[in-house]
Amino acid sequence: MYQYDMLHQLNPDDVIVYLRKSRADDPTLTVDEILQKHETILDDWSEKNLSGKVPEENKYRELVSGETISDRPLMQAVLKRIESPKYKAILVVEVQRLSRGDLEDAGRLIKLLRYTNTIVITPPKTYDLQNEFDRDAFERELKRGNEYLEYQKKIMSRGRLLSVSQGNYIGSVPPYGYDKVWVTDGKKKCPTLAENKEQADAVRLIFDLYVNKDMGITNICHYLDNMGIKPLKGGFWSPAFVKNLLENVHYIGMVKWNHRKTVTIVEDSEIMKTRPKAHDGEYLVYEGKHKGIVSEELFEEAQKKRGRNHRAKAKTKVRNPLASLLFCQCGRAMSLRTYKRNGAERSSPRLLCDDQVHCNTGSCLYQEMVDHVSDILKESIENFEVLMKNSNEDSEKLHNQMIKNLESRMKQLEEKELSQWESQSNPDPEQRMPPEIFKKLNEKLLKEKEEVRQALEKAYESMPEHIDYNEKIVRFKTALDALQNDSVSAAEKNRLLKNCIERIVYYRQKPKRLKKGTEQINSAGWTSTNIELDVKLRV
Ligand SMILES: [Zn+2]
Repeated sequence: MYQYDMLHQLNPDDVIVYLRKSRADDPTLTVDEILQKHETILDDWSEKNLSGKVPEENKYRELVSGETISDRPLMQAVLKRIESPKYKAILVVEVQRLSRGDLEDAGRLIKLLRYTNTIVITPPKTYDLQNEFDRDAFERELKRGNEYLEYQKKIMSRGRLLSVSQGNYIGSVPPYGYDKVWVTDGKKKCPTLAENKEQADAVRLIFDLYVNKDMGITNICHYLDNMGIKPLKGGFWSPAFVKNLLENVHYIGMVKWNHRKTVTIVEDSEIMKTRPKAHDGEYLVYEGKHKGIVSEELFEEAQKKRGRNHRAKAKTKVRNPLASLLFCQCGRAMSLRTYKRNGAERSSPRLLCDDQVHCNTGSCLYQEMVDHVSDILKESIENFEVLMKNSNEDSEKLHNQMIKNLESRMKQLEEKELSQWESQSNPDPEQRMPPEIFKKLNEKLLKEKEEVRQALEKAYESMPEHIDYNEKIVRFKTALDALQNDSVSAAEKNRLLKNCIERIVYYRQKPKRLKKGTEQINSAGWTSTNIELDVKLRV
């Protein structure tokens, strides 16, 4: 009752929020991530218990990790600010965020809070330091070890799970299509979602295009971009965003818990943090307080189609040496698919067009493609070797000789022209040529000069380019060796292949099952169709 009254008189403007990472926090998270998480908890708390969020100018995010107050510049600023009677409370996730220092530090803090009449609010409990019992409790809290924090974390997450199970939306960012709002449920204020008309129309359109118009995800992105519909972030719709949107249960009025958890993976001795999407059933789904945007039937249809197209894809690592090099005739990329069960290969890996639903191109064995690409590289290397032998050196020499001859001919003609003009301008008229003869000679000379000039121009233009075939041979051989070496990583193969190949376009008819006795069939009774490749090399 007492606490309730105390909080009732508070405005968000009267409160200061203090955020600080401590050693007790999850070491795999960055300071930003931790402070962001704490801020969300405190924002939710103040939306629920005060009349709204604490304004930005009242929030302090301590980025240094000092334990004593004098080590923390923002804590000092907070203490300075609470001297003003305007500020009535400090809001923190737990009292230890204020001080983890020694007794002297704690004593100083308690005195300051007490004499400035500042209350300390943590989501589970509020401390009024004028009050002797609260003061004792506050002091005990300050001295408590980290196990308390762990306990509190669990309580908080239990509280959040409880909130989700009651249908509340506890995320800080609402899903596209909704705004986050607070509604009154009995005596409590609860966070939930309200339809954002414009965005919700886009969500309905996406589900309709995907299910009823059988449009692919990439095409949906183009369609939305062309319609001038804007996504939340960035100028264009991304396939990843649309994929997530199509699987989001909030659109049928549900809420979920622990949908994504951060997992730390140590790989190649580097820590990679991923937020893998939980598989079906790994998160809990509850009936939400909000209304759905699409019908359950439409959503179900979308899930069925997603299931059909779904591929487990490790995006962070290149698994396919031909990634972003090999494309199907329909324009889509070809992906590598492996067939493993419990780690054992059930059948050989294959390359398939990404648009299997619409495309009629036949797939091929990964090894077949490696053989083809190896042949292409080998052929190129042979070509370079032939070209290097015949080259150019001889023809370059001949060409250079021709240019030299033409240049010296030009020089002669210019000298002749000069001497003709000199004799024509002789002061003694007897020494000069008759004007008609000079004219004729001069015209002849100019004509010849023009011919030589044109020949020279052509010679310069057709000068054989100096090509370093050695460099090309080395580059292609390196890629070829890597491609055929099992101990080279897919990423490295991919990098080396990209040095030699710009793009491969793949054509293959879908094989047909044939009756026995027909020629040209393989052991499984299928026609074997030829693979055709259009290859653009980087030479
Ligand atoms: Zn295709």
